[in-house]
Parts: sequence; structure tokens; C-alpha cells
Amino acid sequence: MSKLKNKVAVVTGGNSGIGFGIAEALQNEGAIGTITGRNQETLNQSVQELGAGFIGIPGDVTKMEDLERIFKDTSERFGKIDTVVVNAGGVVDGSPMAAIMDVTEDNYDRYMDLNLKSAYFTVQKALPYLNDGASIILIGSSAAHRAAPGMTIYGAAKAAIISLAKGLSLDLLARNIRVNALSPGSIDTPVFGKIVPQEQLDQVKQVWKDLIPVGRMGLPAEMGKLAVFLASDDSSFIVGTEILADGGMTNIS
Ligand code: NDP
Repeated sequence: MSKLKNKVAVVTGGNSGIGFGIAEALQNEGAIGTITGRNQETLNQSVQELGAGFIGIPGDVTKMEDLERIFKDTSERFGKIDTVVVNAGGVVDGSPMAAIMDVTEDNYDRYMDLNLKSAYFTVQKALPYLNDGASIILIGSSAAHRAAPGMTIYGAAKAAIISLAKGLSLDLLARNIRVNALSPGSIDTPVFGKIVPQEQLDQVKQVWKDLIPVGRMGLPAEMGKLAVFLASDDSSFIVGTEILADGGMTNIS
């Protein structure tokens, strides 16, 4: 039986990588709803691949008016929302992660805006439209637990996601809304193509694989299965915590 039949979901950044894998998994369990992203072309492609039940709403998660529109439009189209996957994030376009002396104030602010502030306000703007019993899934990162050169600000923002899950879940218990963090390790998505030159991609991915005890990168579909678990009643007693899915990477020094 479908675990999420006719449940309404919003997946930010559902037009790529982990977000798309999660949207597919939710849909396979009967969910309908919205995927978002700024790139209209990949949004259209992703909606087409998902097929019936999902629409694309373009928007920038760092802009309050876009967040408000995404949830208002979704609710007008589908009714009350049952699941929000706060996934959009990662690398800031045109502003690479950098070593400490190369970090500008603008670079710092943009990473925090995309990876922390947007997560908080995505939840805030969703609240008026959420159903009783809704589940919010904040996408964190193993970078919160395992430092890597040049990734300090991103790691700090993602560490704060774990704290957001704890705090927001307490704030929202009275409304019977659960909040949890899902923190992926190294997952094979288009993000690596955004930060590594094409000719070095295979080599860089091999370095990542060598760091992961299970000997491979994770798949967006694997994050999708965990998102289904957190969205469904199967996880009804899981509140304000983090699921870390990293193939064992953070267990080794
Ligand atoms: P992708 O680069 O494949 O996807 C990023 C998504 O975020 C895209 O859909 C992009 O859409 C969207 N996005 C980025 N900036 C904005 C913005 N300002 N407004 C709206 N949407 C935006 O990366 P992943 O799938 O790998 O990453 C997804 C999430 O998983 C991120 O939060 C990332 O930090 C996290 N993560 C990824 C890991 C990995 O190894 N891949 C590991 C740990 C965590 P568009 O460009 O169209 O706006």
C-alpha cells in the first residue's frame, strides 16, 4: 500500500540531484505536489520526468516573496501541505567555497543565506499552509560532522540545521508538526560538476569514494527512501533529530 497516498509535498530544489531523488520517491509512494528551483528549464524537465501529480513553481529560496508565493500557490492548487523537504542549498552560484583568507563578507553572507537563513524562512513561510500531522525534513550534511578544507562556513551552516530541527520541532509540537534533519554524506549529484572541472570529475569522485567505508558515493534515490520514512507515519515517534546517511564516512578519522 502507498505510504503517502494523496499527501501534498513541497520539495525545494526538486529540479536536481537529491531533491529530484526525494520527489521521485515521494511520488512513488503516492504523494503529489510541487518541486521548486530557479532554473526553469531543469524545472520543466523534472516535472515532465515525474509525470502526473507534480507541478514546478520557480523561485529563489533566499527571497521571502518567492517562498511565500511557492507555498500559497501550492496550497491553492492542492490544498493543505503535508510534507516540506527543505533541500535547496549547497554551492552558491559564482561564489565558490574558499579558504579563510579568501572569504569575503559577501561570500560568507551568501553561504549562510542559502544554507541556513533560507531553511528557517522556508519553514516559517510554509507554516500557514501546513496540515495537522505534517512532517518537515531539513536537508543537512555530513559536513556538519566532518570538516573539509574550505568548507568551514558551509559546514557551520549545516551544523545549525541540526539545531533548527531540534528548536523548530519544539516550537511546532503544539501543532502536531514534526521536524527532523536528514544529513547526506557524499551523494552523486550534479553539484560536483558545478565545483570541479569536467576533466577532473572522475578523479575527484574517486577520492570521495576512497573516503567512504562502503566504497561508493550515495544515490539520490537512497535519500528518497529516507525522506519517505520521515514523511510517513513510520517515523511518528521521531522528532527533532538527525538521520545521518553517509556510508560510514564520519566514523573514520
Ligand atoms: P544540486 O546542485 O544538484 O541541487 C541543488 C538544488 O538547489 C538545485 O535544485 C538548485 O536549483 C537549488 N538551489 C540552489 N540555490 C537555490 C536558490 N537560491 N533558490 C532556489 N533553489 C536553489 O545539489 P545536491 O542535490 O547535491 O544538493 C541538495 C542538497 O543536499 C543541498 O542542500 C546540499 O547542501 C545537500 N547535500 C548534498 C550533498 C552531496 O554530496 N551532493 C552532501 C550533503 C548535503 P536551481 O539551480 O534551479 O535554483
